[in-house]
Amino acid sequence: MLREIEYFLNGKIKEECGVFGVFNIKEASKIVYYGLHSLQHRGQEGCGIGTFNKDVVERVRGEGLVTEIFTKKNLEKLKGNMGIGHVRYSTSGGGGIENTQPFLIKSHRGNFLVSHNGNIINGDILKRELELEGSIFNSTSDSEIIGHLIQREEGIFIERVKKALNKLEGAFSIIILTEDTMYGIRDKNGLRPLSLGKLNGGFLLSSESSAFDIVGGKYLRFLEPGEILQIKKEEISSEKYRKDTQNKMCAMEYIYFSRPDSNINNLNVHSIRRKSGEILAQESFVEGDIVIGVPDSSLSSAMGYSDKSGITYEMGLIKNRYVGRTFIKPTQEERERGVRMKLSGLESIIRDKKVILVDDSIVRGTTSKYIVSILRECGAKEVHVRIGSAPITSPCFYGVDTSTRKELISNRLNEEELCEYIGADSLKFLSIEGMEKAFGKNLCLACFTGEYPTEVYGLLGGDNE
Ligand code: SF4
Repeated sequence: MLREIEYFLNGKIKEECGVFGVFNIKEASKIVYYGLHSLQHRGQEGCGIGTFNKDVVERVRGEGLVTEIFTKKNLEKLKGNMGIGHVRYSTSGGGGIENTQPFLIKSHRGNFLVSHNGNIINGDILKRELELEGSIFNSTSDSEIIGHLIQREEGIFIERVKKALNKLEGAFSIIILTEDTMYGIRDKNGLRPLSLGKLNGGFLLSSESSAFDIVGGKYLRFLEPGEILQIKKEEISSEKYRKDTQNKMCAMEYIYFSRPDSNINNLNVHSIRRKSGEILAQESFVEGDIVIGVPDSSLSSAMGYSDKSGITYEMGLIKNRYVGRTFIKPTQEERERGVRMKLSGLESIIRDKKVILVDDSIVRGTTSKYIVSILRECGAKEVHVRIGSAPITSPCFYGVDTSTRKELISNRLNEEELCEYIGADSLKFLSIEGMEKAFGKNLCLACFTGEYPTEVYGLLGGDNE
């Protein structure tokens, strides 16, 4: 028998954005479409595709899911063998069609398209400077700043791009498309992912390598922090636009955002998550009858926990797959009220069992509380919650909506108090050392430790104090 309960999506971390690029492949817009479709989990508020057909640039953008915005007819309008796309969750600048990417920058020196994933932390300062110098912005997104900075610089295009990139602070994976070249860029701290792939005689860029498989392409490699890749005709050249780089990949990419079939820093996400579950079992073993994971991002670590502990892995929770529409255009009011989605507990599996519930993270605690209540309603004898990451105590300024410090429950409650709040019999988090053992040491852990890899430009005031 199935027991259903609604839980609030706003208790979880909001995902960020996804970018995808195609160079020198016939009917590029269709490939971008399928690429974006496989990156949909990274952003559901809006999406767009822009293509170049010689010097003719076309764009289709809209608020909604990829399958809602694009039609056979509007994809046919996007001609040419080069195109880039974007799926958006608005972490900075808010929603609205004007903030939907790719951005088109028009100039007498040539037009170009920009797709960006991340957050420019010094965006407000740069925007003010640009406006004082006469730049006119069409959106409130910090991503448009990149285009204006490039526009303002002197020299050949790649030199202008490099000069602009050197002014940006924060997290960014960027794809830029001109009429004859595609550029792939990662920020100097390597906070956001970007992978290179190939298909037929052409090349692909994507936030996640799993998108290459979907379009029939092949993964080549992960871009380096501070790297700018130039793809022109059939040639690829690469250089570092900054020397002061470090590898601080967002830990949340491993824990939560990326699909299990993606590679980060050339390692498979499912295998890494499984390892984190094994370490979690070593660190906080508890007797139980079954291990279950919260779909989808926690299933791999639940399998790892089960392997290491020898306790049977079971499918105790099922997520309703057809809730896409509820993601569209979440207004502030909707977010506060909570966007509801269905999660079902399998009573026949759960009843009279000591359940070990593995989840990836706790942000505000509301989601965990609801999931524990599902298990109780299904007759669980005991519920022991194990979290595949450390407590989140600090906000993210790099394009991930983890809420303000005030809203983060681990800031207010210790492990014991939080256990009581969510109604579990026991609660344990993975340690920072455990995270580093599973994901490697090249990580941004700022939301767990408060140690930010960049200057934060005064953002730690107000509700973040
Ligand atoms: S602060 Fe957290 S969510 Fe933000 S980039 Fe760092 S690890 Fe990722």
